[in-house]
Amino acid sequence: MRYFIGNWKMFGIPKSINILNKINYFYSKDKNRQKYRVIITPPYTLIETYAKHFKNKRISIGSQNCYQKDQFSSNTAAVSPFMIKKVGAKYTLVGHSDNRSEGDTNEMLKNKVLFSLKNNLKVVFCIGENQTQKKNKKTFSVLKNQLTKVLDKKFNKNNIIVAYEPIWSIGTGKIPTKKELEKTTIYIKQVLTSIFRKKSPAVLYGGSVDSSNVEMFKEIREIDGFLIGGASKSSKKFIDIIKNYYR
Ligand code: PEP
Repeated sequence: MRYFIGNWKMFGIPKSINILNKINYFYSKDKNRQKYRVIITPPYTLIETYAKHFKNKRISIGSQNCYQKDQFSSNTAAVSPFMIKKVGAKYTLVGHSDNRSEGDTNEMLKNKVLFSLKNNLKVVFCIGENQTQKKNKKTFSVLKNQLTKVLDKKFNKNNIIVAYEPIWSIGTGKIPTKKELEKTTIYIKQVLTSIFRKKSPAVLYGGSVDSSNVEMFKEIREIDGFLIGGASKSSKKFIDIIKNYYR
C-alpha cells in the first residue's frame, strides 16, 4: 500500500473543500486506486465538516497535531486525540518539525502517539534532521534518537506510519539525492524493525515533493508514499503527483 498525505498547515476555509472534491473525484475513478490511500490533514477548524462530507468517500481526513493528553483537561486551546477522533478524523500527524520547533519534546510526542493510538487514530510520526545536523553527518544518529525515544515496541505498528522529512527540504525546493534518500530510508526501516521486530511500519518521504521530482522518488522501492505540504493545496498539483507516480 502507498500513501499520499496532504498536509495543509495553516491553510483552508470551509469552501476550500472544492479542492478535495476534485482530488476525490480523480481518486474514485483512478484505475490504480486500490494501490494507494489519500489522506488530507486540514486545520482543526475544518476536520468535522470535511470528515462528515467524505465519510463514505475515498479520501480520509486527519489532524495535523494533537495535544499530549487524553480526553478533556484544563489546557487552553488544546485539542486531544479523543476530541479529534470524535469529529471523524482517522489519522493524526505527530512530531511535525513545525511543532518540534515550537517545543514538542520526545516525552510529549510519546504521549501524543500513545493517546492517539488509544483513541484509534492512526499516527503519522514525522522525523527529520536539520541542515546543520546533516552537514555534521549526524543524520542517522538524529533519526535513531527521534525514533527510539518515542516509538515503543508495545505500540501497534499497524497503526503507525513514519514520515521522513528532512527539515532543510520542507518548503525549500531542495531534495535529497536518490542515493542519500535510499540509504536513509533503509536505515529508518532497520531501526523500526529493531523496535517492532519483524516488519517495519510504512515509511514515507516528505519535503518539496512535486509532480516532476516524484519520478525520481518512485524509483526508490523502500519509500511507501509521500507527505506533501505546498503541493497539496492545489488539486491539480496533488493529482499530478499521483498520476506521475503511477505512469
Ligand atoms: C510538510 O510540511 O510536511 C511538507 C512536506 O511541506 P512541503 O511539501 O511544502 O515541503
